[in-house]
Amino acid sequence: METEFDELSELASVCRNCELWRSRTNVVFGAGSPTAKVLFVGEAPGRDEDEQGLPFVGRSGQLLKALLEEIDMCREDVYIANVLKCRPPRNRDPRPDEIARCCAYLDRQIELIDPVVVVTLGNFATRYLLGTEIGITRLRGRRFKFRNTEALIPTFHPAAALRGGSSKLDDMRADFRIIRRSIDLARPRGLTG
Ligand code: URA
Repeated sequence: METEFDELSELASVCRNCELWRSRTNVVFGAGSPTAKVLFVGEAPGRDEDEQGLPFVGRSGQLLKALLEEIDMCREDVYIANVLKCRPPRNRDPRPDEIARCCAYLDRQIELIDPVVVVTLGNFATRYLLGTEIGITRLRGRRFKFRNTEALIPTFHPAAALRGGSSKLDDMRADFRIIRRSIDLARPRGLTG
């Protein structure tokens, strides 16, 4: 039986809500387990992701995979999505109107996955989900209240760590340990009081 999650993915695959459909090769809806406890949210697909139709499969994805392995997790344990489902030409920043026309997909993904922890990768995902203008350097590694989850934890975008050298990478490693602890210590679901 087709789930609502599959239906949403099919709807997104033919989306023309903004102009990015004209230049995309594939819509990148997301990947991983729709029942995952952890949802990672990036910015938008890059060239590799647009070609393959999957999120974080390029260099940033390699780093994300390595960081997950350091906390004994793999891609299949989590769900990975982006704020924008289509690649902006030449990887330019997402525009506010594109985010406004695309964000219903991410919002519904969050409702359906119902994750324990949301991890925002970089400024765009953090700004959109926390509704803040404060930069990622000040927000990273902290736990924020977010919708129905135990915590939203912002960290750097892997591309920033790839550009920014060892200190950003060390910060990301520390943030991933916080992610691991947050999942391990999360209250059992379905209990009240
Ligand atoms: N950068 C992102 O923000 N998302 C991807 O899927 C790949 C690179």
